[in-house]
Amino acid sequence: MTATNKTLWLTAGDIETLREIVSARAKRAERLGLPVPTIKVGPETRDERGQIGNVTITKTAVQIIQDVPSFNGWKLVAVLTFAEDGIVYPTPVITRPRGSECEIPNGITCKTCDHCNTSRTRNRVVVVQHDTDGVKALGLACAEEYLGVRGLESLLNSWCSFAESDELESFGSGYSQLATAREILSVTWACVKKFGYIKASDHGPTETPTYSLVQTAIFGNSKLPAVKELREELDGNYGTDEEIDGLISWLQSQSSNSEYIANLKILIDDGSAPIISKRYGIVCSAVASYFRHLEIEIKRAKVAATSNWIGVKGDKVNVMATVTGNRTFETQWGSKYLVTFADQTGNVLTWWGTSQDAAECEIGQSVTVKGSIKELGEYRGTKQTVLTRCKIAK
Ligand SMILES: [Zn+2]
Repeated sequence: MTATNKTLWLTAGDIETLREIVSARAKRAERLGLPVPTIKVGPETRDERGQIGNVTITKTAVQIIQDVPSFNGWKLVAVLTFAEDGIVYPTPVITRPRGSECEIPNGITCKTCDHCNTSRTRNRVVVVQHDTDGVKALGLACAEEYLGVRGLESLLNSWCSFAESDELESFGSGYSQLATAREILSVTWACVKKFGYIKASDHGPTETPTYSLVQTAIFGNSKLPAVKELREELDGNYGTDEEIDGLISWLQSQSSNSEYIANLKILIDDGSAPIISKRYGIVCSAVASYFRHLEIEIKRAKVAATSNWIGVKGDKVNVMATVTGNRTFETQWGSKYLVTFADQTGNVLTWWGTSQDAAECEIGQSVTVKGSIKELGEYRGTKQTVLTRCKIAK
């Protein structure tokens, strides 16, 4: 499998669009210190018959030219991504630089690293080639050390998000499927509102995953009844500019601790970058995450509005309640439990317990709580009655 610079045959209008996309990518590549893509137009042209009537369309040969990224004498062959959205796939998504001619060796798995030889599951494995030292497959974290490039991991994560040459090189084929992150998010918004979020990896036999609905809605042929029907159902539910702005700024304010969020932030950026079809699944998942966040906020606001203190400090209480949480903390004296309850009018009670009673509180259980009020607290706007020396009866 050798990647070469493919010739695209494009109309004048398509060439202009491609110029814009490539110039946006060039800016990002420059910012990252990666080889900058350019396009070579012509001189060859050819005439094609158009789809409508007998119109003849003149198309020009176009190539996208970009040097293969290289790090201290090691040329990048490919980045193999084994996970997306937290699910490990056995077959990786392979991202190759445009124009790379090196073969990817067989047998590379998510457990391969020729540097440390440690067998553990990795999200990404990078394959590099040296003129004299051959080809190596390295875990992304190890590659940074082995190739002596600081920040290589985040550099390659960014590179993967926009370097999928094969997709750009199907540009102009009439079904190139390039839409901006913002367009995809807006259509996903409507799909999730109408049909719920259906993950790519675990959809049932009769369900269509969200990303696939989104692709159909954006690119489907409107002459097909199914496509027409889908668009009619989504109409009026698309995410508005303000809603998508809200989603993007929420996303960008999230911590990049998880690789999933870090990738999503790079990919969606300010929403204007074109997204290739391979990445639709992960972009769509951002809407599901954001809806979950909004639901939690609404619940929190409801609880905050209804919860009141149930007495004053020192009062004895004896109330029926539901266990809403039980978190265990290990201390040098043993386990400690932070148990939370909601009484029948929605007031929040909390109890730091160490007894068997505390250990046995399970979320959802209906219980009778006997104890005394230690203090009247407030957490994130919610009034909480803090209890002590509780006895729990089920
Ligand atoms: Zn390693």
